[in-house]
Amino acid sequence: MPSGASELSGGSPIRITDIGHSTMLIELAGMKILTDPWFAEPFFGVVAHPRGIGMTVEDLPALDLILVSHDHFDHCDFKALSRMDKAASVIAPDTKTAARIQKLGFGDVTVLRPWESRFVSKITVTALPGDHPVTECTYIAAFGDQSVYFGGDTKYIKDFREIGDRFDITVALLPVSGVTLPMAGRVVMDPVEAAEAAVLLKAPVAIPIHYNMSLRIPVLKGLFERAAPGTPEQFVAEVDRRNRQIKVVTLKPGETWQSK
Ligand SMILES: [Zn+2]
Repeated sequence: MPSGASELSGGSPIRITDIGHSTMLIELAGMKILTDPWFAEPFFGVVAHPRGIGMTVEDLPALDLILVSHDHFDHCDFKALSRMDKAASVIAPDTKTAARIQKLGFGDVTVLRPWESRFVSKITVTALPGDHPVTECTYIAAFGDQSVYFGGDTKYIKDFREIGDRFDITVALLPVSGVTLPMAGRVVMDPVEAAEAAVLLKAPVAIPIHYNMSLRIPVLKGLFERAAPGTPEQFVAEVDRRNRQIKVVTLKPGETWQSK
């Protein structure tokens, strides 16, 4: 790598480790960023971690930053947060969530609204729009010419075009489960919408997140799975149909993707 490029990227590749669901460990410019922590199996273990967990709270490296897209149990696990090192900075989408995280002992908790940015050490984090039944932000973490877009579990939003135009995204993490609820309707992108998003975001690499959620109660299992039918295989096919330049990387829990 020429020395200029290495300076821009901090000299280190981006690494993304799939911990499970929307919980991803991003390594950017040597900083360790955790997204949407979900480690517990709440409701007495009824809601199953879909594909197993790639790492326990105790296995986590020292974190620099935790990004919380919204306060749903599978994105903001307060019990897990209470067991983490409180030295990490935290970014939350609303004051209520931020206050609850602050109460756990975290000293640096910031609320960012869409299009607001802050520096955390050497990286810039920008909150971006999200659409979900509760207040949700999606985020970009950037350093030099490297950036990671994290889509939480947003619905399809018209802002994807503007986000793709404004930022030079290296890798996009996009939810694909297509969760559709009786009263609320569609609350999370499905593989077709996520593929549209990948095209508009102009990211050369896309990683599907947030799929295969399940329940441990057999009678409810089928119902639950029908409510969230999107799979990474469908996402691969939909992206391929639109733009073969975009590489989709599907990770197993614990598996790591690394940029060049
Ligand atoms: Zn949610």
